[in-house]
Amino acid sequence: MTLFARNDKLEFAPAEEVRAVQGQLLKQHVEYCMGHSRFYQERLAGIDLETVSLKELPLTAKMEVSIRNSEFVAVGPENVADIVFSSGTTGWPTKILYSQGDLERLAYNEERAFKTCGLGASDIVLLTCTMDRCFIAGLAYYLGVQAVGAASIRNGHGTMEGHGEVIKHADPTTIVGVPSFLRKLGVYLRERGMDLRETSIDKLVCIGEPLRDAQMQPLSIATDLEEMWGAKVFSTYASTETVTTFCECSAQAGGHLHPALGLVEIFGADGKEVPDGEPGEVVVTPLGIEGMPLIRYKTGDISFIRREPCACGRTSPRLGPILGRKKQLLKVRGTSLYPQAVFAALDEMPEVSEYYLKVYAEDTLSDRLAVHLSLRPGPVDVDVVLRRLQARLRVKPEVIVEPEADIRRVVFTPESRKPVRFIDLRK
Ligand SMILES: [Zn+2]
Repeated sequence: MTLFARNDKLEFAPAEEVRAVQGQLLKQHVEYCMGHSRFYQERLAGIDLETVSLKELPLTAKMEVSIRNSEFVAVGPENVADIVFSSGTTGWPTKILYSQGDLERLAYNEERAFKTCGLGASDIVLLTCTMDRCFIAGLAYYLGVQAVGAASIRNGHGTMEGHGEVIKHADPTTIVGVPSFLRKLGVYLRERGMDLRETSIDKLVCIGEPLRDAQMQPLSIATDLEEMWGAKVFSTYASTETVTTFCECSAQAGGHLHPALGLVEIFGADGKEVPDGEPGEVVVTPLGIEGMPLIRYKTGDISFIRREPCACGRTSPRLGPILGRKKQLLKVRGTSLYPQAVFAALDEMPEVSEYYLKVYAEDTLSDRLAVHLSLRPGPVDVDVVLRRLQARLRVKPEVIVEPEADIRRVVFTPESRKPVRFIDLRK
């Protein structure tokens, strides 16, 4: 028997029905945590299960899961099915365990997410994320494709040429991947004569990088991808700890959370909940987890919630794009921004080929930003780049132009799973 609830219709149900079902699921979740997790046994002492509500429960920090790791484990070794590591806050990766039931929940979670962006049994899905290296994402997408009844092509971190061959010979309808990689792949294949708009691909499910800005307007990466591939882009977001996905629907207006699988809240810098639409830290309570259940887990990611009715008919809350990481907030002479805003501005300048951002502590109130970038061949005035950055960001960074090979050496390191574009020297 698994703990999670399969309830396909709940995402379309009226608010009162959702509240009643979620109240029951939360009560079961809290009861399970109190009975199986040493961390929560201690943390939840004195909570009355009969009257329990989300708002009275304590928050859980990433650091606690990292430092008191074994106290979160709620199953015996005979019930552990998969072990992964998530990048930790202490420099050490955090170990996360899943039970067999958690993997079934993961499949259901990803099935709901894929169905939200319109996948069905006749789709063929090219997965460009790795299944191994102790990551959960690749496995989650694979299980989700299987649960939908679609076909998977597990090409992982294959070469661009290899992906091109797969596209030519296996006719995928959908690609799951990181947006900047999908753009690079598109450019590569187009330069080699492939007409991407004529391929079978009509959906790009995008992970790891945002597609929209704080006003929900598409970033240039989103419009580039749609134009280049002749496909629709859908943003999807989850984390190793919460294994609960937010996925965009056909309205492309924020990621829906399946209401039987989790609860979401947004907290401001003052530790208080913010009104809908205002950005703050994403806090998730995943429901029905057995291995390492969590309550009000602070993800460290910054976004906002939208609750107005969606064009797709779902009543579930939608999460906006990830605007940045809480600890990466930059403060420059009274203006606050996240590195992602700098990246989005640079992505919109076709003359910039590669870049990274370095930040130094100037004084206690202000940071100093240095943008290291390389330029494509051709006549480019670096002052123009600087002025455009300044206009977009409302702060003036230093701009340092370097050869592309030097920038790439910093950005693409074998130690990191993602490109390193942010170097924080403030501590
Ligand atoms: Zn929708």
